[in-house]
Parts: sequence; C-alpha cells; structure tokens
Amino acid sequence: MPNVKTIYLVVPCYNEEEALPDSAVRLKELFYNMIADGKISDSSRIMLVNDGSKDKTWDIIQSLHAEDKLFAGLCLSRNRGHQNAVLAGLMTAKNYCDAAISIDADLQDDIETVPKMVDEFYAGNDIVYGVRCSRKKDSLFKRMTAHCFYKLLKKFGVDIIYNHADYRLMSKRALDALEEFPEVNLFLRGIVRMIGFPYSTVEYERKERTKGESKYPFKKMLHLAGDGITSFSVEPIKMITRFGIFFTIVGFLAFAALLVLYILNIVAPIWSIISFTAFMGGIQLIAIGLVGTYVGKTYQETKRRPKYIIQDLLLK
Ligand code: UDP
Ligand code: MG
Repeated sequence: MPNVKTIYLVVPCYNEEEALPDSAVRLKELFYNMIADGKISDSSRIMLVNDGSKDKTWDIIQSLHAEDKLFAGLCLSRNRGHQNAVLAGLMTAKNYCDAAISIDADLQDDIETVPKMVDEFYAGNDIVYGVRCSRKKDSLFKRMTAHCFYKLLKKFGVDIIYNHADYRLMSKRALDALEEFPEVNLFLRGIVRMIGFPYSTVEYERKERTKGESKYPFKKMLHLAGDGITSFSVEPIKMITRFGIFFTIVGFLAFAALLVLYILNIVAPIWSIISFTAFMGGIQLIAIGLVGTYVGKTYQETKRRPKYIIQDLLLK
C-alpha cells in the first residue's frame, strides 16, 4: 500500500480495571497484525483515555504504556463523561495521526471492523461510521429504548445515522473540523453528521459486555437522549405553541359547554373544573421546564468552560 497512514485508536475508560487488560491484549494483536500487513504505519497508537476512574484503570494504562509504546495514555483531571473523554482523546490524537477511530473499552463493538474502516479511509472517506446491523446481544429493554431514541431524534429533525453510536473513524481534516464546534453540550453523533466530507458506513454485530458493568445506566441514557434532542432541535419548544393552541381551543369549547349548562340551569360538577385546572397547570410547568432546558443550555454555552482538562499524556 503506498503511503501507509498512521491510525490512532481512542478508547475512553472509566473504571474499566476489569475489562481493560483483556481488551488491551486483543487490541494489541489487532494493531500488530495491521502493522505487519502494511495496512497502518508503526507509529500508530492505541490511546487509552482515563476519564477520572476511581479504580486501578490509570495504573493499568501506565504499565501498558511502560511495556509497549503501542499504548499511549491520556489522563483527564477528573470524570467528564464518555462524550468528553472521547473528544479529549480525538483532539489529542489528531496532532499525531492521519485518522483516529473511537471505540469503547469493553470492545462490545466488533474490533474486526477496524481494518474495514481503515480500508474505507484509504478509499477516500473522511468519516466511516460503524453501524450495528443487529443488536441481538443487547437486552430487549436496551434495544427498545435505543430504537425509540433514534426514531424520536429523526422526528425532531436531528440528522443521525441509525444504529451508529460512537464507533467511527475520522480523518485528520474531519477532526480539525470537529474542533471548530465550540459547544459545551456535546452530542458527537449529531455534530459529526454536520461536518460533511465524504463518508461511508461499515456494519458489524454488537456483542455483549463480558467484563465489568455498563457505565450507562438508564438515567444516563435518558440524559444523553435528552441532550441529543435539545442540542440539535428547537422542535420541542415549537411543540409548546402547538399545545397552547390546542388547549386554547379545548378551553374555549369547555367554556361554551359550561355556558350551555348554565343556561340550562345545570351546575357543572366541581371536579371537572379542578381536574382541568390541574391538567393545565401541569402542561404549563412542563412547558416552562422545557424552555428552561434551552435557557440553561444557553447559559452553559456562554460560559465557555473547558470540556476537559488534561492531567497527563503518555506517548512515546
Ligand atoms: N465511559 C467514560 N466515562 C464515563 C462513562 C463511561 O469514559 O463517565 C466509557 C466506558 O469506560 C466505556 C464507554 O464509555 O469505554 C461506554 O460505556 P459502557 O460500555 O459502560 O456503555 P454501554 O455500552 O453500556 O452503553
Ligand atoms: Mg459498553
């Protein structure tokens, strides 16, 4: 292959002491095979990003790096969450590589797809999205919530690739473009779609997490979904107006009905008024909360706080 490229793998790790040793062995084999095949240059690295882990994750990363320079280590000053950890890794990697691939530490996303991504990169694609062709191994609950999530985003006009999470390859120039997006509320899947450039997808089967526990409990998943929608679409605020119009009409009809009852000398039951008022109160509070979400985000964005702070970089 003419001009072999340097590829960095970016792996966010939060409390991964159980999964990391195994994952490191598998990734190392994969990388040395690709280097031996002349697919990637020997300055390619596996960059393990420690996202403020409370267990031995950083110790493991340090010893992996000491044993083999194939492993690079990046330590964030504290836990900043998956999206920020991925971004920190990518933004550091882009100074040294031609393209970087992000993948989770538990290797639920099939690593055999990495060479295919690299092929697609050589074929001229700046972004290669890993797409799960089947989620048989995910729990029914996770599959259903994920499905609703994608459908909902689509409905709100957010452009994302169905069944693509954060397993993707990005070229140096795509990463440079990503850096131009200054937002603090990070939803990488959505932002990367806005970058443009030639892209392609590769399919793989998602596996079960074998070691350690999911760091994405339902609450965090909901948070990510909400973040995804409110970061890319103002549709929910517009919906409030539609709700408003709808209930104005309902209110008007209710008033007309009450008037008729009054004329007919029938007293409307008190609960009908109480329940309607309570219902409207609820709707109004939801509406205020929704507007508040956007105002809150605007507030966070104006402060321009750093998304992550790097404490240590181990790179040979
Ligand atoms: N992760 C992280 N910071 C966090 C939470 C998770 O860097 O605050 C990493 C974690 O180590 C893993 C990836 O993000 O590499 C995805 O997490 P997980 O596998 O637990 O999520 P799931 O696959 O269950 O959605
Ligand atoms: Mg996982």
